[in-house]
Amino acid sequence: MNTAATLAQVDAIAAKAAPKAAPKSVLNESRQIERAAMLIRMGARMQVLESETSLSYERLIRLYKEIAGKSPSKGQLPFSTDWFLTWQENVHASLFLNIYEYLSKGADMDSIDLLTKAWRLYSEQVDSADIEPLLSFTRAWRLVKFVDADMLTMTACSKCTGKFVTEPYENARHFLCGLCNPPARAGKSKVAKSLMVH
Ligand SMILES: [Zn+2]
Repeated sequence: MNTAATLAQVDAIAAKAAPKAAPKSVLNESRQIERAAMLIRMGARMQVLESETSLSYERLIRLYKEIAGKSPSKGQLPFSTDWFLTWQENVHASLFLNIYEYLSKGADMDSIDLLTKAWRLYSEQVDSADIEPLLSFTRAWRLVKFVDADMLTMTACSKCTGKFVTEPYENARHFLCGLCNPPARAGKSKVAKSLMVH
């Protein structure tokens, strides 16, 4: 008996032993569509959908148009970490990441479920404080990617001890967060529903 024949037999036995293979993949596909639909409703951009589902680009485009009622916006997301380090944005990003890390320690959720749950909680928090949610779902997704890639991390403020999004090499001994050490222009914003410092 040669090896090729043996492998073919093993395949044949495996195929008989697993008759559920086909319906399983249909089930998986419907899960993928469900997931994509949920992400589109949360305002996710195409890059998020392509990264978090196994659906083809063409299918995602069709799904996007159907659910969002418009074509997805073109263009790449910025690859810079700067946005998350600007004062007001940093406070939002930090709030989200604290929620995300808290949730990730508890339940055994898959990463996208964790992300959507954390983002919903973040939105509720800022909503209840009557603050405009600056961190879109796509931004939140990007933030988690930056943290996973060690391009951003969280550092505890040396004054209030709250954890804030920083660059990985931030000096923790001297680090002051944006709330303890706001920029001179902070709180003078004329924009409604923006963060105020008292
Ligand atoms: Zn502080």
